Amino acid sequence: MNDAPALAYIALGANLGDPQAMVQNAIAALNALPDTRLIRASSLYRTEPVGLKRQPDFINAVAAIRTKLSPQDLLCALQNLEATHGRVRSIPNAPRTLDLDILLYADQTLHTLALTLPHPRMHLRAFVLAPLNEIAPDLQIPGRGSMAAWLPAVAGQRILRLPVTA
Ligand code: ADP
Ligand code: MG
Repeated sequence: MNDAPALAYIALGANLGDPQAMVQNAIAALNALPDTRLIRASSLYRTEPVGLKRQPDFINAVAAIRTKLSPQDLLCALQNLEATHGRVRSIPNAPRTLDLDILLYADQTLHTLALTLPHPRMHLRAFVLAPLNEIAPDLQIPGRGSMAAWLPAVAGQRILRLPVTA
């Protein structure tokens, strides 16, 4: 169990209650997960909802962590965080207090019922790519090439980087 920790990227999103506080708290909570350390977090971004339109805008961010948790244990830990932050699962793309997805886990590719790595839609979403470009512009997405090469494809998606608050 002395394996070097893996570098993983987490997407955070919220659009109910106080979504900015929710995402900021969740970033801090990542650093408190067992065997896990927060390396970098992006700014917060305000984005339009995908799919179901008549709901509040989302606050999104991404974070880089180093973790000794396995991908499955990390997913489990993130789902616990979602639960403790009060998320209630309903229909897909529904409003949520907190959504935590694993974007990348080292250079692993994985297809199980519970977990797909890299996250299968990450390269199509401005709310993932814009914050990733802020903290890791040279990132490679296993199977999809350079992250930055996907940015032009999402240029039409409205996204606003929020000013950093003290
Ligand atoms: P979404 O994030 O797609 O809006 P959910 O958060 O409800 O929707 O996730 C649905 C399921 O997706 C989860 O129960 C989880 O098992 C699965 N899943 C598959 N791959 C991933 C991943 N890379 N990160 C997070 N969840 C994932
Ligand atoms: Mg999710």
